[in-house]
Amino acid sequence: MGLQALRSRVALADLHTAALPPKVADRFYTSPAWIALRDRVRREAGGRCQAPGCGRAERRMFADHIVELKDGGAPLDRTNVWLLCASHHSLKTVAERAKRTAQRPGGP
Ligand SMILES: [Zn+2]
Repeated sequence: MGLQALRSRVALADLHTAALPPKVADRFYTSPAWIALRDRVRREAGGRCQAPGCGRAERRMFADHIVELKDGGAPLDRTNVWLLCASHHSLKTVAERAKRTAQRPGGP
C-alpha cells in the first residue's frame, strides 16, 4: 500500500507538538460530535478503506485521524478523518509510533 503516501501526509504533523491527555482523548471518542463525524465519514466512504489502492470493505472499519490528535491534528475536521480497514489502520499506527520513537531525544 502507499505507506510513503501516508508518511507524506502525516509529515504535516511534525510542526505540532500539542498532545491530548489520555482522559481527554477517551472523552473525545465517546462524544456525540465524534460519533456523528465518524458515521458521516463511514457513509461518505461507502464503507470502504480509503488508503490509496485499497478499497477493502470489512466488518470492522476505523475512522482514523489523518493527522493524529497526539500530533495536533484537528479532532472534528472532516478533511482530517478517513476510513481505514483493519490492516491499514494498524500499519498507520505502527508507522506513527515508529516516527514518534525516532523523534524522541536520545532515540528509542
Ligand atoms: Zn485498507
